[in-house]
Amino acid sequence: MSHSSSSLPQLGQWNGPEELHRLQEKQLQQTVSWAAGSPFYRPRLTSAALPATAAELADLPLTTKQDLRDNHPFGMLAVPKERLATYHESSGTAGHPTPSYYTAEDWVDLAERFARKWIGVTADDVLLVRTPYALLLTGHLAHAAGRLKGATVVPGDNRSLAMPYARVVRVMHDLAVTLTWSVPTECLIWAAAAAEAGHRPGVDFPHLRALFVGGEPLTPARRARISRLWGVPVIEEYGSTETGSLAGECEYGRMHLWADRALFEVYDPRTGTVGREGAGQLVVTPLYREAMPLLRYNLEDDVLVSYDDCDCGWGLPTVQVFGRSAFGHGVSGVTITQHRLEQLVFSLPESYQVLFWRARAERTGLRVEMEVPEAHRVAAEGSLRALVRESFGIDGDVVGLPPGSLIPREALTAIPDVVKPRSLFGPDEDWGKALLYY
Ligand SMILES: [Zn+2]
Repeated sequence: MSHSSSSLPQLGQWNGPEELHRLQEKQLQQTVSWAAGSPFYRPRLTSAALPATAAELADLPLTTKQDLRDNHPFGMLAVPKERLATYHESSGTAGHPTPSYYTAEDWVDLAERFARKWIGVTADDVLLVRTPYALLLTGHLAHAAGRLKGATVVPGDNRSLAMPYARVVRVMHDLAVTLTWSVPTECLIWAAAAAEAGHRPGVDFPHLRALFVGGEPLTPARRARISRLWGVPVIEEYGSTETGSLAGECEYGRMHLWADRALFEVYDPRTGTVGREGAGQLVVTPLYREAMPLLRYNLEDDVLVSYDDCDCGWGLPTVQVFGRSAFGHGVSGVTITQHRLEQLVFSLPESYQVLFWRARAERTGLRVEMEVPEAHRVAAEGSLRALVRESFGIDGDVVGLPPGSLIPREALTAIPDVVKPRSLFGPDEDWGKALLYY
């Protein structure tokens, strides 16, 4: 195989936390000296001795998302600009851009981390990438990881007019797609779109091996439903545009932090203390990133990190990611979170066929709407109402809606006419599309 791995640390090269720690510290000095080359970190690293150990690093202040925004676009740049390979942005509050950029060498580390899938990615695979390519990292990340492993990559995007759901299903079916990368919600919508196209999700896609998902909180109940719908494992991934992949799942279903490629800390915003494990916000120092080094970058995601052993033998800490799902809304003095509510909805009997729902939490009441076929409406409403009462101690207003109410059938079946710009039109043609051609 020509797809040999790089000189970066690889799974299986260390035994136990001590060796992992040595691996991190061996690289840390290089990481810090790269950082010292950026306008942002230079004044922060003025002391004669640069931090060389994790303990010394902990004396530096955290880097925040706001720091990245304030230094947009190139205040964090640590290499000559001509060495940059790609530039990305994620949009934060009020549309202020959060920049991130990578060299070609940085991209080797990025692609390798994402490619760490327990089920494997090979030249025989056809990988449908169904996350955005515009500005964000996610689409390019999966694309590069697929190419690294020799897979055939189908660039599907999920924010492009050229790739409506009907086309996703057609591609998955006709190209015998084996792997997909998307937010979990997409996998549910594809199932509905497949049914509209006359395909049975768990039966008529025999080549499908796994669904890679990330970018959205996922409860065990919803995950199990997606897996059963398609008849393949759902494999979770955690990362961001500013960092790339930070954690991925092992075959035992636990998420492991890529602690050989980055240094992780857990920050408790209430006490201001930082630890190696426990509950708090995840803080990351990528160790192999040259273009835009980050020292102690606070992702502001709520996590729980543990160094307990796992049977997979990777020797990496595990992480549970709660993201912003930890936040909720108060209803009648009770906090309602999406996570808990989602777990209830997907605990309904599968025969009720409830896949799509939404809820509005107001101070005085909770309203939940779900798509459910007429035959199961009364039963589904009663069951969910009881689950809400049992779990939250409040009476929710639960309403079953006809299928198509939350996701119109049109959205599952339509293939919009995407044209190129042109200036000359015939007598019966719509010349409104001359310049507004999308
Ligand atoms: Zn494991």
